[in-house]
Amino acid sequence: MQPGGLKEKCGVFGIYRHEDAANMAYLGLYALQHRGQESAGIATCEGNKFHLHRGMGLVADVFDEDTILSLKGDCAIGHVRYSTSGSVLFANSQPIKIICHKGEIAIAHNGNLVNAARIRNRLDKKGSIFLGNSDTEVILHLIARSEQKTILDAITDALHQVEGAYSLVFLTSDGMFAARDPYGFRPLMLARLGDSWVVASESTAFDLIGATFERSVRPGEIIKISDSGLESHMPFPARKFQHCIFELIYFARPDSRIFGHPVRDVRIKLGKNLAKEHHNDADIVVPVPDGGVFAAMGYSEESGLPFDFGLIRNHYVGRTFIEPQGKIRHFGVKVKLNPVRSLIEGKRVILVDDSIVRSTTSKKLVEMMRNAGAKEVHYRVSSPPYISPCYYGIDTPTKENLAAANYTVDEIREYINADTLGYLSIEGMLDAVQRNRDDFCTSCFTGKYPVEFPDEEENQLALFSKGEEDER
Ligand code: SF4
Repeated sequence: MQPGGLKEKCGVFGIYRHEDAANMAYLGLYALQHRGQESAGIATCEGNKFHLHRGMGLVADVFDEDTILSLKGDCAIGHVRYSTSGSVLFANSQPIKIICHKGEIAIAHNGNLVNAARIRNRLDKKGSIFLGNSDTEVILHLIARSEQKTILDAITDALHQVEGAYSLVFLTSDGMFAARDPYGFRPLMLARLGDSWVVASESTAFDLIGATFERSVRPGEIIKISDSGLESHMPFPARKFQHCIFELIYFARPDSRIFGHPVRDVRIKLGKNLAKEHHNDADIVVPVPDGGVFAAMGYSEESGLPFDFGLIRNHYVGRTFIEPQGKIRHFGVKVKLNPVRSLIEGKRVILVDDSIVRSTTSKKLVEMMRNAGAKEVHYRVSSPPYISPCYYGIDTPTKENLAAANYTVDEIREYINADTLGYLSIEGMLDAVQRNRDDFCTSCFTGKYPVEFPDEEENQLALFSKGEEDER
């Protein structure tokens, strides 16, 4: 993925009954940092007493030894967040904790509710007070207002009213709850760490703390974990699964296993299929780091062309940096990626990326390769043309800013000044997942949405606070 490309909105983590719960949550969030870099938070429960610490920034910036020590208790949930397009609000950082007549409840959410704005408008008119503009707060209001007696029934009642994508972890004095929408858009999985239960967005979080993967939380399942053990409830009508295929293409860490698939293996296969569909004579295959790395390896393996790291990523660049007064051309991209001239010079290069969103960064990358002496630049994309925004938990520009929604492949090729441009086909993408290929959402490539959103402006809380968008 290019700098400033599509962004996963969140990662969640939960641990039940562990003497070092806050520290384990901290480590779990550390492993999930790629799913959100703008805020992080942990809520813990010590008997009936709750503790919460949230802050803006990376996990390592938000927490230190003292804050971890202050998060007492043996149950914890945590969250990392990338704020949706627009303002970065502390009030939207998670976990969000409320005190209501049902007790204290903390929630961490990955996904996006497509009918949240409508529910919020209704609640607003009835006098509900919201602290931020995230869709997650809506769930808490629905739980607090539910007439159901138990927390489990109130959560179920609330989730019956929302539509869209959610992988949720709740912490209450009744126990920890994990829930996943009936479509299974976002991943959520379960593991054991000794006698403790652990829940996380990706299996890589289990690896870091030494937990053993048990299973995925099923689409439509609500799990209650308490001192009586684990209870599984399936209160929703079955739906056709819609796992986000972009988790496999780009968002998830390559060392994770998502929707039953090792992410790294899928990316290699995407690259192989790309090479089969768009072969070109060349001297070297170069990935756009980090998202294009495994696809480029697959491309190289299939085509027999040598693979090498011709673009080096600076891993220490934060979200903002100070640009010099006398502008440097393409500074934003250059500060993050730099070509290896000795490798590129005089070569015909296959440049492999996971996606093209706006295409402005692709244009700069091609120019960088040419300036480094590339004789030819053949741009290859390990996913199909991205033609439609995501409403299920990924931050995307509006349709008018998506290159492939407005221009033909050849027009994009001409704009980015590549010698050739090749996108993987939808068939080639689905072939890479092999098993359960009908269980994936492909809406951003087809424009056909499995869960409707009646009106974009009205129904996307994410759009309430539009601010300056990244250049992509
Ligand atoms: S629209 Fe695209 S990014 Fe969004 S859930 Fe579907 S596959 Fe994933």
